[in-house]
Amino acid sequence: VATKETLGFQAEVKQLLQLMIHSLYSNKEIFLRELISNASDAADKLRFEGIAHPDWYGDDPELKIKVEFDKASKTVTISDNGIGMSREEVINNLGTIARSGTKEFFAKLSGDQQKDAALIGQFGVGFYSGFIVADRITVETRRAGLPPSDGVRWESDGSGVFTIETIDRPQRGTSITLHLREGEDDFLNSYKLKSIIRKYSDHISLPIQMRKEEWDEDKKEQVIRDEFEGINQSSALWARNKTEITEDQYNEFYKHLSHDYENPLCYSLNRVEGRSEFTQLLYVPARAPFDLWDRNKRGGINLYVKRIFIMDDAEKLMPMYLRFVTGVIDSADLPLNVSREILQESRDIKVIRESSTKRVLSMLEELASSEDEGKKEKYRTFWTQFGQVLKEGVGEDQANQERIFKLLRFASTHTDSSEQTVSLAEYVSRMKEGQDKIYYVTGESFNAAKNSPHLEIFRKKGVEVLLLSDRVDEWMLSFITEFDGKQLASIAKGDLDLGSLSDEKEKKEHEETEKQFKDLVDRMKKVLENKAKDVRVTFRLTDSPACLIADENELSGNLLRMLKAAGQ
Ligand code: ADP
Ligand code: MG
Repeated sequence: VATKETLGFQAEVKQLLQLMIHSLYSNKEIFLRELISNASDAADKLRFEGIAHPDWYGDDPELKIKVEFDKASKTVTISDNGIGMSREEVINNLGTIARSGTKEFFAKLSGDQQKDAALIGQFGVGFYSGFIVADRITVETRRAGLPPSDGVRWESDGSGVFTIETIDRPQRGTSITLHLREGEDDFLNSYKLKSIIRKYSDHISLPIQMRKEEWDEDKKEQVIRDEFEGINQSSALWARNKTEITEDQYNEFYKHLSHDYENPLCYSLNRVEGRSEFTQLLYVPARAPFDLWDRNKRGGINLYVKRIFIMDDAEKLMPMYLRFVTGVIDSADLPLNVSREILQESRDIKVIRESSTKRVLSMLEELASSEDEGKKEKYRTFWTQFGQVLKEGVGEDQANQERIFKLLRFASTHTDSSEQTVSLAEYVSRMKEGQDKIYYVTGESFNAAKNSPHLEIFRKKGVEVLLLSDRVDEWMLSFITEFDGKQLASIAKGDLDLGSLSDEKEKKEHEETEKQFKDLVDRMKKVLENKAKDVRVTFRLTDSPACLIADENELSGNLLRMLKAAGQ
């Protein structure tokens, strides 16, 4: 059967292609990183599926990636002998964007080229990045386990449609040929290609090979031989000796894992031995992904068992409140056929999760407590990007609560800036003599909190108050009763007892004033009988005439508003 079909790209693909070609042009060499990254993923998938189907390897058991170029036809070809794709998979994978978060991504595009370029990098550019340098791409592939007659050829000029046909393909895996655009001949050069591979893909754990090029004495020129040679180190990065890994290699590996294009804030590589044996390589990103609040977001932790890739986004390996962490866990104990269900109950997983949690907290503590300006700045960045998520940990991770408390940062009347930079320890160090509580006020916004009438007396007395306005704050506060032996107290709740902060003379004056206004208060109580529980003379205000306060044990006004908004 003649089976050549012409199909249209999903609308989003067209949009992405347009944007990518224009906005990433200045960084076009990344196409090679993306295609090699896909080839490496394909090898990972074959290793995994091959556990149950050893016959799929046939006479071609050594997984590798080849990069070749042809000056005459002006093409660069990247081939792998990984899992390959069936016809249906080709149509789905190379005609649509199936990734979760795609909708949010497109909703965020602004039309501003520079902003969108940053977003594209964050989204992960992937296969389509080939069109930055190619005006036509040909993909030939065959899925492992299918017969040679089930090969597939896909071709497109990136303008809106692609063709697909069935071909004979003796070898399994995928080869991707880029027909370079006019003016991209630079890439028809082994020196150039090798240096790009070393720069971006040295962390790839399988061999990336190119044809040998040698000086020919007779011809007096470089000639390309038939044999291949390895270009990269081709060992799993996390399995290498720490002292042999450069910062660039850590960073590039992070980008491969996370689809981020910025370097991470910090990372940590550890081998844990003992009852449980595993390696953990964990990264904290420098920027929140656009789908941070999407609980199904991809990314997270990739699980390997003895270097064999098992699954990505293994959510059981990290608590929810650290879901921004990206990395690899390679276990020596788990069975290769471990499933998501098994992970739920595994004891080994629990050990790994606890250890990884502690690692991440240590990394953050190191940044947070450092005297080094660069590290301090990194912690500020971290807090702006992920502070709200980390706050979830106060309720979620009781075992590490104390450590998380120390990592929290707040806005406060000390700086009166909306930037959250004040730690609880810092607050305590500035407490007034005789002050025994940590005071805070919550509000719907920073400005609402900052302008709260409850603050007046505190400002007058020079007592610092934390200004809380994030959505999670009220919930979080219900888990913090004290820090460093000091109670946390809302200045909008209950009787305001400034303790030994008010002196005897003041107390006398207060009693007198109360007597003076007793008649008025009684009258008001009557009038407000069904509306207010109590009416009191207050000394917490200096400028405003009156304010509402919540009972000690009552939900605060802000939390009530939130619950109402949530339809409770
Ligand atoms: P991502 O790698 O983030 O999923 P890409 O755009 O890079 O996105 O690739 C899209 C999909 O195409 C991949 O998820 C994979 O299913 C498929 N694919 C791409 N390249 C290959 C390849 N060399 N071998 C097998 N499948 C591939
Ligand atoms: Mg990819």
